[in-house]
Amino acid sequence: MLRFNDIADRLIEYNPQVDLERLQRAYVFTAKVHDGQERLSGEPYLIHPLEVAGILLDLHVDEDTIIAGLLHDTLEDTLTTREEIERLFGPSVAFLVEGLTKIARIEFKSAREQQAENFRKMLIAMSEDIRILMIKLADRLHNMRTIVHMKEESRRRIAQETMDIYVPLAHRLGVYWMKQELEDLSFRTLEPEVAKELEARLLISRDEREVYIEDVIGIISARLADIGLRCEVQGRVKDISSIHAKMKSQDLELEQIYDTIGFRIVIDGGIGDCYAALGQIHSVWPPVPGRFKDYIALPKPNGYRSLHTTVIGEYGERMEVQIRTVEMHRDAELGIAAHWKYKEGRLEADGDDSKFDWLRQLVEWQKEISDPHEFLDAVKLDLFPNEVFVFTPTGEVINLASGSTPIDFAYAIHSEVGSHCVGAKVNGRLVPLRQRLKDGDTVEIITSSSQSPRKDWLEFAVSSKARNHIRHAIRQAGKERAVALGRDILGRELRRNDLTLAGVLEDGRLQRYADAEFGGRTIDELFAAISYGKIAASVLVRKLAGGEGKAPPDLSAVASAANVVPKRLRRLFKRERRRSTSGVRVSGTPDVLVRFAGCCEPLPGDEIIGFVTRGRGVTIHTKGCARVFTLDPERKIAVEWDDEAKVARAIAIRVLSRDEPGMLAKITNTISAAGINIGSAKVSVDETTGRTAEQTFELWVPDARTLAGVMREIRKVKGVRSVERIRG
Ligand code: MN
Repeated sequence: MLRFNDIADRLIEYNPQVDLERLQRAYVFTAKVHDGQERLSGEPYLIHPLEVAGILLDLHVDEDTIIAGLLHDTLEDTLTTREEIERLFGPSVAFLVEGLTKIARIEFKSAREQQAENFRKMLIAMSEDIRILMIKLADRLHNMRTIVHMKEESRRRIAQETMDIYVPLAHRLGVYWMKQELEDLSFRTLEPEVAKELEARLLISRDEREVYIEDVIGIISARLADIGLRCEVQGRVKDISSIHAKMKSQDLELEQIYDTIGFRIVIDGGIGDCYAALGQIHSVWPPVPGRFKDYIALPKPNGYRSLHTTVIGEYGERMEVQIRTVEMHRDAELGIAAHWKYKEGRLEADGDDSKFDWLRQLVEWQKEISDPHEFLDAVKLDLFPNEVFVFTPTGEVINLASGSTPIDFAYAIHSEVGSHCVGAKVNGRLVPLRQRLKDGDTVEIITSSSQSPRKDWLEFAVSSKARNHIRHAIRQAGKERAVALGRDILGRELRRNDLTLAGVLEDGRLQRYADAEFGGRTIDELFAAISYGKIAASVLVRKLAGGEGKAPPDLSAVASAANVVPKRLRRLFKRERRRSTSGVRVSGTPDVLVRFAGCCEPLPGDEIIGFVTRGRGVTIHTKGCARVFTLDPERKIAVEWDDEAKVARAIAIRVLSRDEPGMLAKITNTISAAGINIGSAKVSVDETTGRTAEQTFELWVPDARTLAGVMREIRKVKGVRSVERIRG
């Protein structure tokens, strides 16, 4: 627990003129009026105002703000009056405490209204005196730090509100650590399972990461010392919430552990030294194009300055490095407080006033606008650069990530609205669903009960809510299609044998078959298996017709024997079978009979597409294959390479070279050096010229990249004229 002396010591550090007697009076006062009260954690209530004051000290606020921080809950939660505070601590403190109390007392009708209204109150408070906002942020931070003691149902609401309102405000004020901590705490509250799992997984690779961090720090320090720079290099694991956001946005796996670490170089020197350090970093590790950001030449709107770059490190990992001077570092830690000066007891921005233009704008706006939505509309752009705020036809505010489309909007309203969306009107005019929404747009969604989520929506939906719903619906529809197709195939086959589907369903024959030989799965699953070619309809019908549903022990009668294994063996095979043996995953279904099309012979790494064939499973083509356009689009099915089950596949290449001794040996050596097995090789000489030799190789390669690599190597062999892949 923070003690009065700790607070006093830290305040004196940056503000030697502090009136310690007055500060102590505030401490004693708050201890007295909160006496006997407890927090939900069971601790004395006094801990809370003390911690809030402690957080405020990190922001280097003035004496009045610290005192108001100590007193911030006294009007709300005790019998204290404003007059009492004013008499004891002066009008400035009384004004701050009253401002905070007003915010706390607002009651809201709906969640959305609450949000708009909350923004408004925060901003009004901020424009009256920014110190109110600083205290409110500190208050919220301590409440978030202790949120585990809250009731379950309040936790989510508070965390969401923190994410929506306080995180962007802390960001806007440039207090990076506070923004980061608030975001992390909210994320842990909103997605506890994801956070816990990430944490557990991070723990596993901790030692490896620590060694890595030390290595990198060593290399950077040595290089910068070489050019005479004095600096401190820090490496740290990013916050869980940032790692999660990154994994989501870039589709990364946590196993790419090096991407979870950020490095920072704080230089004891000037701006020129930052660029010199950057040059050193780029000479050790190649920079990733497009990732260099010069926030020194072009500071962020909140005043943040630094050089940011991403380089390719020792192990091919992407390494983020920030470079800044000591002064820039201090600014980044203090945010807005770094530019404060005190003038007649009020905080004001220092020399460079333009940094706070946005703040003045807010004050101006709030004077003129009375409608909270309109007000929100006016300030949102400035405060939340990565979001768009749009309106429903009834004027509700919907807050979306920038780049969102009407589909995202529709799903934000309700998943049913999203799923049945057929069109959208923006500001009264019909627009394509892929049109990006702009701030202030009023969006109306047109629905139709016959509509269902479409795959192409994924090309422009950006919110995770929309994307999850769409993906799920597509998987579901794929399954339903497979069931219908299988039912159709079986029905036809039965009719050819003078049976009917209704008949074998009614007398239970099909069910008995499913129970006895299909691992007790449902009839629908059986239909799906037929459509994927795992079970041949003709063989099944023969069994249904002959065996009267009794399972004959001879399983060889079932076609696609590779996929139908007796139960006894199935258990043994279970582990292997979980991985796709073809190296391809077909969406929604684990083990499907897969064939590679002869026309294009796809290799792992190629973009691929599958087609359901009758009785022969799924055929895989490359996306660019000409055959694809001749096939029935209805039978198209999403497939992807299964990275876990890399299976080497045979492909053929043709090499044309000068006809000279040793050529074949040179080429085969190159191939072997790449670790690739040669299935067969054939050499022929063009008789007409007699100068060109043609070698054909069958190679076993794991993926397209390896193939491209080895072809490149062969091209480098002296005497080789061309290397190409032969398909079909
Ligand atoms: Mn409080």
